[in-house]
Amino acid sequence: MSLNRENQETGEEKVITTMCNSHCGGCCMLKVHVKEGVITYIETDDGDEPQLRACVKGRAYRQRVYAPDRLLYPLRRIGERGEGKFERISWDEALETVAGEVRRVRDIYGPEAIFLQSSAGDIVSLNGPLPIVKVLSLAGGFSTSWGLFSFEQGIYGELATLGSLDGSSRDDILNSRMILLWACDPVSTVAHTNTTWYLAQARDKGIKIIVIDPRYTDTAATFSDQWIPITPGTDSAMMIAMAHVIIRENLQDQKFLDTYTVGFDPFKTYVMGDEDGIPKTPQWAETITSVPASTIEALAREYATTKPAALITGIAAGRTAFGEQYHRAAITLAAMTGNIGKSGGTSGLRSWMSVSMLPALKKGVLMMDVPNPVVKGPPADFKTFLPARAKGFKGIGNVVTAKVPDALLRGKAGGYPADYKLLFIVNTNYPNQYLNLNKAVEGLKRMEFVVTLEQFMTPAAKWADIVLPTCTFLEKNDVTESERLTYLGFQNKCIEPLGESKSQFQIAKEMAAKLGFPHFDGLTEEGILRDVVVKGSTIADYNHFKQKPVYRVYPSDRPYVAFSKQIEDPENHPFPTPSGKIEIYSQQLADMNNPDLPPIPKYIESWEGPNDPLAKRFPLQLITLHPKRRAHTQGETLPWLRETQLQGIQINPVDAMSRGIAGGDRVKVYNDRGTTMLPAIVTKRIKPGVVTIPEGAWYDPDEDGVDRSGGPNVLTKDEPSPGGGYVTNTCLVQVVKV
Ligand code: SF4
Repeated sequence: MSLNRENQETGEEKVITTMCNSHCGGCCMLKVHVKEGVITYIETDDGDEPQLRACVKGRAYRQRVYAPDRLLYPLRRIGERGEGKFERISWDEALETVAGEVRRVRDIYGPEAIFLQSSAGDIVSLNGPLPIVKVLSLAGGFSTSWGLFSFEQGIYGELATLGSLDGSSRDDILNSRMILLWACDPVSTVAHTNTTWYLAQARDKGIKIIVIDPRYTDTAATFSDQWIPITPGTDSAMMIAMAHVIIRENLQDQKFLDTYTVGFDPFKTYVMGDEDGIPKTPQWAETITSVPASTIEALAREYATTKPAALITGIAAGRTAFGEQYHRAAITLAAMTGNIGKSGGTSGLRSWMSVSMLPALKKGVLMMDVPNPVVKGPPADFKTFLPARAKGFKGIGNVVTAKVPDALLRGKAGGYPADYKLLFIVNTNYPNQYLNLNKAVEGLKRMEFVVTLEQFMTPAAKWADIVLPTCTFLEKNDVTESERLTYLGFQNKCIEPLGESKSQFQIAKEMAAKLGFPHFDGLTEEGILRDVVVKGSTIADYNHFKQKPVYRVYPSDRPYVAFSKQIEDPENHPFPTPSGKIEIYSQQLADMNNPDLPPIPKYIESWEGPNDPLAKRFPLQLITLHPKRRAHTQGETLPWLRETQLQGIQINPVDAMSRGIAGGDRVKVYNDRGTTMLPAIVTKRIKPGVVTIPEGAWYDPDEDGVDRSGGPNVLTKDEPSPGGGYVTNTCLVQVVKV
């Protein structure tokens, strides 16, 4: 049997090519074998390079579709909220109830009392939260949150410095002579499909790869020539000390700095200690980062003199209390060494996306053509982005995501715009994925009504009053895109939705009808994808796109180099910043006059770091990691995936021994916010003083509120970074043997 068939029928069996994008950082090809309406087998791309090969999660999707614990019918709570007792009801009754509650809460308390909490789920154009956004907007509006869970500090840092989120395509690392993976672990987190494939080629070509991370990650173990362990939350100090070495030894690319940047001089003044009397030397950084000064010196010299060099920043080090500074400092280092806009270099970015290249998403947003009367006036463009965020980013939402648990709990008494009564959960696992989870649960208890769209009895479903079952992406059509947007993908429906599950679009359509809005009449999933999402994009032929569901935005035969136009022709292609240059010094930030968001990148000592007085009681720094066996919380109950990884806490032998902990022991991890229990993994692959827990395990409290799932969010603090970012990697804990 050929493995390359695409949507061809072979006897009774069809092989349908579709694209997986499970909010994991990838966008991979699945070839789904279907016989008599049942998925029998899933394989992946084995065509021409670069193949878009799926990971274990994508290949296990058949088990997910047919999982015995999948939710296939609407449910109504019959026990206490959170107890998990439900009865099956009809769609008519479920939607009548939800529509009735939306009307009731709106009429009694005002539409601002309806809180929509959503995230992406799968990264798609149609069946994300937008259809529900439209219905709730039609119904009078709703409150919601702003601030990405994943990358808010990165967005802030990159827009302030470069005015754009653009990044080079991954294949360009093969043109580098040195690769610095800073808090970046694509072996586990994917960080774009094919990143590891290019890293393997880079390693085989002899390109030096250095990993800077508190963990000896699988990426470090597989690809690196050198691992530099670092104290969490101190990355900007090490980068600034590298800048000190480069300046002291006059290794900076002064011509590049003079031509393409503004504000190098005030940065230099800070780095050399002329601003505050503290030279930011490698010795200064050693006491903060625990990286030996000699290592910082050597790395700085090598990075500045090996050109081109790619400094690739992961998300994790940004997801800290002052993570904006890490991203700003990385871009500054790349500018100092002339590595921006050049093939083989990188702008210090994670390589995200350019909004100008989002035809499908832009068209998808047209779905949201009804303004939300509660949260008005989105910022027009990136020029207003930073000041708008500093004021609370009223355009998208009115509660910063990190503060949603507090807002639901305290409402107006806590200084929030409203008292929230109805929680609508779409494509997110609230409270599981929220900081300070125990507070999130308390907030849930305050709600008069909770409705969630879900596929499994997750914590988000368990705490709901009504659960509306959604189908998987193999049971509906959609358009997705790779994270770097080098290609778009068509998600082909492979089978009919199981049970009575429905797509987000279909649920919104039926809810709109219940509420008496005709706006969805005549709209179909296929029609929207054809006429709104694809039409008007650069995709010429919808049917061809469905048949060959990978549309390359760039030719795959050469790398895309971000900002190359700005470097080659600065007169006609300024950087999209107020000055038209890379802003090492940002006047926008200076005007905001916030010492936690200084105009030049600085090291700011973190709360809940090793020097916090709290460290006396909670001496270990907790960082969280993306597990291989789940995409956040997705796939948690699947036996095939559970086999791949233990939900355990990594602890260094030094810290384990002093606590009498051996590998496999069950341990209690706690601080003042909560307690979780899980097995210990005693390993030198984590720096002493640091422990790590995979995020996404499903909250399972015992009668004392101790989370038996071993998830980390009962421990994390619900405090945003100064730019509104989510802080999952700044948290002090203690660990004891049970
Ligand atoms: S889960 Fe992510 S990495 Fe795995 S196959 Fe799907 S898109 Fe690819």
